[in-house]
Amino acid sequence: MTTQAAPITNAPTLEEFLPGGPLAPAADSRIELVGMDKAELAAVLAPLGLPAFRAKQIYRWIYVSGVTSFAQMTDLGKELRAKLETHFRIGRPRITAHQVSEDGTQKWLLAYGDGNEAETVFIPDEGRGTLCVSSQVGCTLTCTFCHTGTQRLVRNLTAGEILSQVMLARDALDGWPSPAADRDLTNIVLMGMGEPLYNTDAVVKAMKLAMDGDGISISRRRITLSTSGVVPEIERIGRELNCGLAISLHAVTDELRNKIVPINRKYPLEQLIQACRNYPGLSNARRITWEYVMLKGVNDSDADARALLRLIEGIPSKINLIPFNPWPGSPYECSDPKRIEAFANIIWNAGYSSPVRTPRGRDILAACGQLKSASERIGKRERDRMEAVRLEKEAAAGL
Ligand code: SAH
Ligand code: SF4
Repeated sequence: MTTQAAPITNAPTLEEFLPGGPLAPAADSRIELVGMDKAELAAVLAPLGLPAFRAKQIYRWIYVSGVTSFAQMTDLGKELRAKLETHFRIGRPRITAHQVSEDGTQKWLLAYGDGNEAETVFIPDEGRGTLCVSSQVGCTLTCTFCHTGTQRLVRNLTAGEILSQVMLARDALDGWPSPAADRDLTNIVLMGMGEPLYNTDAVVKAMKLAMDGDGISISRRRITLSTSGVVPEIERIGRELNCGLAISLHAVTDELRNKIVPINRKYPLEQLIQACRNYPGLSNARRITWEYVMLKGVNDSDADARALLRLIEGIPSKINLIPFNPWPGSPYECSDPKRIEAFANIIWNAGYSSPVRTPRGRDILAACGQLKSASERIGKRERDRMEAVRLEKEAAAGL
């Protein structure tokens, strides 16, 4: 427990933050506090002459009470609150669009200060609710089945921008403060737009804040990070977060994976599997999740299923089969339900849990791999057309 903030060297002076000072950005450019940890908050408040315990109080107002204005910080003097309000901000992204699916899934399109947009999706389930968080605007990788992959990377999100997705969802769903036992938002998955391990610093910082028992307090056991396989960063996630790990596997030979998950050319399967074997704390209660998108005629044969079992042998695992979610212009079809069932049975019979992920929020393009923001968003007409095609196929397949 830190009661005394460590002495901060190089702490900027208040003058540097003030309008006209070297750190003062243009126009309304109060300093954003969301995304700051305790030490940073102490450092940024120090020039106001605030003692460490004040920084701690303010930290709790932000991350436990979820306030968005200093006026709400009732245990601070009026004058101090006004002063804070002039220099600092406790912001949220602007909501550009909010959609609710017929299955209860909610998607927010969020605009950040510079106008860049990212999506965040809430998936309610029995006994829990999962927020699917974005880590980048777009993605530099180009997995061939992924809609986000067709959007070039615009930029990394900052820790504050990642965390503020969680905070905004808490505003909308649970309100603040909300005791852990009584929350709709119980879990976080880093499975939104972007590759979290190409933005590891910000992701680690945001998730540490989300986990902090003095703050937002979502246990690391309820956080899962999904990566397409940035092998050198996996070790760091194990060391610094040790949250759940999901791997976007999707193919069991280098030959196919090189094509559909191109990062495999840099970090081939053998290295990826080894990094997973070494992930700390694996046990039957804490398993690696292997995500496997079912692409008709591409990776869905019985032989693929058996090769998958050989590949992960000895690693505590669960396999998450994801029916391919189409998007406009996507070059694949989803495997037939019977094929998915046969594939799942092979895995099940080998003793692994192999849930088939029920697509959620497809009608609002919120399902896995469908997220894509801004400039290239599709219109309602195209969405309706895709949904009609999907329903027709499902009807034909007797679903
Ligand atoms: N970039 C990270 C996080 C995204 S997670 C990663 O790739 O792991 C989103 C998951 O949905 C990944 O497993 C991704 O491979 C999968 N996915 C992408 N496009 C999909 C699609 N069209 N249908 C179903 N799943 C898809
Ligand atoms: Fe990027 Fe993940 Fe999509 Fe691949 S699957 S393009 S890594 S978001």
